Amino acid sequence: MTSKIFRAIFLASVVTLCAALFVITGFFYNYFSGIQLNQLKDELNLVSAATEQSGINYLEKLSYENYRITWINSKGEVLFDSDAESEYMENHLDREEISEAVENGSGNSVRRSSTLSKKNLYEAVRLSDGTILRMSVTRTSIIAVVIGMLWPLIVVIFISVIISAILAHKMSKRITKPLNNIDLDYPLDNNTYDELAPLLNRIHQQNRRINSKINELKQKTDEFALITESMKEGLVLLDSNKRILSINPAAKNILGAEQKSVGEDFLKIESRTDINIAVERAFGIGHCEIRVRKREFEYQFDISRIENNGKTVGAVLLAFDVTEQANSERMRREFSANVSHELKTPLQTIMGSAELLENGLVKQDDISRFVGHIGKEAGRLLSLVEDIIRLSQLDEDGQMPKEDISLGEIVREVFDVLSKSSAEKNIAFNLVGDNVSILGVRQLFFEIFYNLCDNAVKYNKEKGSVTVDLCETASEIICRISDNGIGIPPEHQPRIFERFYRVDKSHSRKSGGTGLGLSIVKHAVVYHNGTVSLESIVGKGTTVILKFPKQQ
Ligand code: ADP
Repeated sequence: MTSKIFRAIFLASVVTLCAALFVITGFFYNYFSGIQLNQLKDELNLVSAATEQSGINYLEKLSYENYRITWINSKGEVLFDSDAESEYMENHLDREEISEAVENGSGNSVRRSSTLSKKNLYEAVRLSDGTILRMSVTRTSIIAVVIGMLWPLIVVIFISVIISAILAHKMSKRITKPLNNIDLDYPLDNNTYDELAPLLNRIHQQNRRINSKINELKQKTDEFALITESMKEGLVLLDSNKRILSINPAAKNILGAEQKSVGEDFLKIESRTDINIAVERAFGIGHCEIRVRKREFEYQFDISRIENNGKTVGAVLLAFDVTEQANSERMRREFSANVSHELKTPLQTIMGSAELLENGLVKQDDISRFVGHIGKEAGRLLSLVEDIIRLSQLDEDGQMPKEDISLGEIVREVFDVLSKSSAEKNIAFNLVGDNVSILGVRQLFFEIFYNLCDNAVKYNKEKGSVTVDLCETASEIICRISDNGIGIPPEHQPRIFERFYRVDKSHSRKSGGTGLGLSIVKHAVVYHNGTVSLESIVGKGTTVILKFPKQQ
């Protein structure tokens, strides 16, 4: 802008200067031409008065530096000429100024001289004897005058141009300085040209509108950030070039992205081919879902294309943690497979034995042993089915009636039921802390203590012992079921509460175990908002610790 103003001022002053020079030159030229013409007339009057008195003698005595004088008789013959020999000169009667003077007493004319740059001015007067006295002077043309003054003119123009440039530079700076210093954030606080007031006013209005829009936008962005930040699901917004527009903390965590991922290519953040193919497919067909395993988690990615006026503008990617769902699906699959397997084994034994008996292939002495086999396997089948039914009841999560239960009473009942099996191994039962009661489902507490005590007997040594210790704190009821049996190796401890998980399959089977006892325990304890933990040393024994909150 400064240079534009500079150019405008500079050009205006140069044009003004040239125009002024042109006008002044023309004016002076006209002025001095007028003076020259008047001088010519005055000189002619003086010379004609002297010639009237002294005739040709006067003319011959005159010195002619600037003027030319010609004396002509009434026939047009030249009597005297200050520049040429009069007898060789042609008749002058046809000259405009001469014929005018003959007729009117005086005349004048202007004629171009042989050189274009000069003009001759003629002034003629008729004397009393009828002769004509003519005086002429040469006038230089205006172009010749200008050419003659060329150097001084160039110097003047040069100096003027430099002065104009300096002044134009200073002026342009002075004009633009207040404009450059305008504070557009606070337009009304500026003390600048009055002419700018409407513009500054409009900028002020516009600033207010922009600020309110920015605030609105910021509020929406904050709201969006707040929502997405608190989301458990990962959310990623991609533009049409698959660059990240927005990514929430959950998505960063799932994708293992750096803090600053906005603006990055999605491929740079997530390099897995299957996910990128899914994104590509979503851009192509509109929607794509994929399940991927990352670290120890399983995620479902739902990718949907975003369109605006039929044009793809980006995509939204939602990532859900489906680990739990996948695990329970896996467990359900494993459970079904295990159930069929566990049911098949005793059934096959029963059917085999029954077939042998039916075909009379069993010796008379062995019949009772075979029947015993059938009964034992049928009993195993029954307890397996019962355990499965109990587990599915607990899985259904239905509400069972709760009552005040004396835990000591239940434990004594359990000891009673297990007295036969414990006696077989000479195992002693001990109960410590009798006076503990809890609000719970009697049947489930029986299952808990039965399964734990049964295990404590099953996986115990000859002449071992099983102790149930019941106690309570201000907030909890704690039950410890310990034995001094075979113990559980540390690598199996985290898994023994899984369905059908056994440390030693044959031992469990031999002792009539179904592999579901501890799963039932865990479910029943969790049903009462309790926790189960385990302490076990191989060869020394196992303690199962149950904790129930008093305020359920
Ligand atoms: P099972 O019907 O086989 O006893 P459980 O679910 O009750 O099934 O127990 C799972 C496995 O945990 C058992 O097979 C056994 O190997 C181990 N176990 C449970 N309790 C004890 C214990 N008190 N001492 C040693 N091992 C145990």
